[in-house]
Amino acid sequence: MKFKTIIEPFRIKSVEPITMSTQAQRENFLKKAHYNPFLLKAEEVIIDLLTDSGTGAMSSNQWAAMMQGDESYAGARSWGKFESTIIDLTGMPYILPTHQGRAAERILYSHIGGKGKTFISNTHFDTTRANIEYSGAKAIDIPVIEASESISDYPFKGNMDTKKLEEIIAASKKENIAAVILTVTNNSGGGQAVSMQNAKKVSSICKKHKILFVLDCCRIAENSYFINKNEKEYSTKSYKEIAQEMFSLADAAIMSAKKDALVNMGGFLTLRKKSLADECTQLLIITEGFTTYGGLSGRDMEAIAVGLKEVFEPDYLNYRITSTKYLGEKIMEKGISIKYPVGGHAVYIDAQKLYPHIPVHQYPGQALVCELYRIGGIRSVEIGSVMFGKYDKKGKLIPSSQELVRLAIPRRVYTQSHIDYVIEVFDEIVKNKENVKGIKIVKEPQFLRHFTSHFLPV
Ligand SMILES: *Cc1c(COP(=O)(O)O)cnc(C)c1O
Repeated sequence: MKFKTIIEPFRIKSVEPITMSTQAQRENFLKKAHYNPFLLKAEEVIIDLLTDSGTGAMSSNQWAAMMQGDESYAGARSWGKFESTIIDLTGMPYILPTHQGRAAERILYSHIGGKGKTFISNTHFDTTRANIEYSGAKAIDIPVIEASESISDYPFKGNMDTKKLEEIIAASKKENIAAVILTVTNNSGGGQAVSMQNAKKVSSICKKHKILFVLDCCRIAENSYFINKNEKEYSTKSYKEIAQEMFSLADAAIMSAKKDALVNMGGFLTLRKKSLADECTQLLIITEGFTTYGGLSGRDMEAIAVGLKEVFEPDYLNYRITSTKYLGEKIMEKGISIKYPVGGHAVYIDAQKLYPHIPVHQYPGQALVCELYRIGGIRSVEIGSVMFGKYDKKGKLIPSSQELVRLAIPRRVYTQSHIDYVIEVFDEIVKNKENVKGIKIVKEPQFLRHFTSHFLPV
């Protein structure tokens, strides 16, 4: 007998209370936070879908492993477990431990980037783009055309447009292309999967032109699930084998362990070439720490080593992907446009379609983010012109190509009833949609402005 209900494949051993609030209280909290949910106190939030990054629950096995942490400065036992787990998974010999993903990005991209250099990606994640641009280099996104078709059910909308990749390479000086970065799954592009076929094609183009091929791999287990389900020749391969094959195509990988390594903090850079590894190791020692711990304590490395195994368990991945899909499809049933098919870690809502009366320079995504919090105490994030908008020389907004709101699902944290509550909040969102007003920015920094900007309703 196969049952329809997929249950959470874990029991709860330790609980954390949620502070409930009224709509009137939340309106006050929102005002104090300058209409930017990043500035809310976590205890003012009922369901926190701001990010799936570092917000997951560790297993009892991970907590037990933490007690085994060896905090020796050099050559700790925990480093050995961490290093061998990652070598086994990635097949790359040089492992640089960092405190999170962006520290690995800073090390690699500041080293190979700089003025005059170009990076090409299916879609650069926000910290990736910021690290590249901060070095003086340029970041170009070339997602496949299907990525912007919200109705098609093409399963690999995270793919890179390889024809465009060849065109860009043909039109550039090869030595100016610092790297090609394939983000799996494609976070900013909607949490969409990248096919093995696409990764193979990107890899062969990079090999032909001797360009460094980097995997931004923080959701590689979720991506492997989609490959297993949607690319026929991989249906009999295990999720881990699929990940191993994808790593075998790349020259380097950057991982934020706060995603698919199932921990709250950590990351790493892996490299295949010794000379590049030596150069990056210099930067690691200067800015993170000694080679056998970098930005991590021994106990962190223990938890990552266990997490990288647990994340490939079929029951976990099946629950993870089907529960995200459940939320997305229920929201869609209410007539709301979402990125479809639903990606692995989040549901992306098309805020421009929900609020057609709000122009892009009044940030429809930010308006929905505020509305979700005001009505239901749900914290989400805008992935649109607040995050990716730029200004031209006259100070006019060059908007992002899409105005999305992301509901990211922390790993192993919320149960079905939490998710059903979120779905119910969307009934109110739909009922109230004509009354929602746009948002203006009143204060902003130069980089990563969504984190700290202040807003006001117009
Ligand atoms: C989270 C993330 C990063 C950055 O990692 P941090 O651990 O947050 O610094 C880089 N790339 C992608 C695709 C991510 O999702």
